[in-house]
Amino acid sequence: MSRAPLIDTHAHLTDTRFVGDIDSVLERAQQAGLVSALIVGTSAATSRSVLELCSLHAWLFPAVGLHPCHLLDEPIELAWPAIEQMARLPEVRALGETGLDNYWKEVPLPLQKESLIRHLDLARELDKPVVLHCREAADDLLPLLEDRALRLGPVRGVLHSFAGTAEEARRGLAAGLHLSFSGMITYPKNEALRAVAATVPADRLLIETDAPYLSPQAWRSKRNEPAYVAATCEALARCRGQSLAEVAQQTTANALALFRMGPQPDPDLPK
Ligand SMILES: [Zn+2]
Repeated sequence: MSRAPLIDTHAHLTDTRFVGDIDSVLERAQQAGLVSALIVGTSAATSRSVLELCSLHAWLFPAVGLHPCHLLDEPIELAWPAIEQMARLPEVRALGETGLDNYWKEVPLPLQKESLIRHLDLARELDKPVVLHCREAADDLLPLLEDRALRLGPVRGVLHSFAGTAEEARRGLAAGLHLSFSGMITYPKNEALRAVAATVPADRLLIETDAPYLSPQAWRSKRNEPAYVAATCEALARCRGQSLAEVAQQTTANALALFRMGPQPDPDLPK
């Protein structure tokens, strides 16, 4: 495993699959060189758990939001005020994950869009980045983001676990977003995705696990965990013709800057 500094910018560590051994998962992550990780909520309840987990570990930072596939779990009128309240906390570094999903087809698209716009508006108000999920929804998501970028200026945030085309990458970058690559980039058949990753400007690149999902090739079909982000970094370095250390340094610097993962503001100091 690499000792270059790494940041996993997308992990669902409050998932039930981590209940028994979260401490050893975190220990392995730090041994693999992780200096920070963004822990991502998908509902009001999981966002609360994310806050709780991050309060115990100074190197973990929370993102709170409603995942587009979980919008029928709880009425948005009930869930949203809770998200809004949590999002205003200084320790919360991003809004999400939000976005659009046309794969599962359970949640009506208009409701997904309503939720997405709430997240985008609040993120802009709070000057925090958004974490965007996009599954078979680029044709709905990109025009919406481009329209906002045109009217309001660049959208600060990330297209997480990016798996789109070169044209979709270009449009996301033009709207102001970072692109985050997951274990999908290690899969042998994903030659086209590696070709896209090779062309992304260095200052817009991020890496992530999306743990417990999307394990890199070596752990495929097993539970994913933050330590494995090193394998994704290695695959990204190889397809860009760069060293692992270079890509680790760059993606770490990008994550620190985008999510402002520095020490938390001291609540006792006057604002
Ligand atoms: Zn996710």
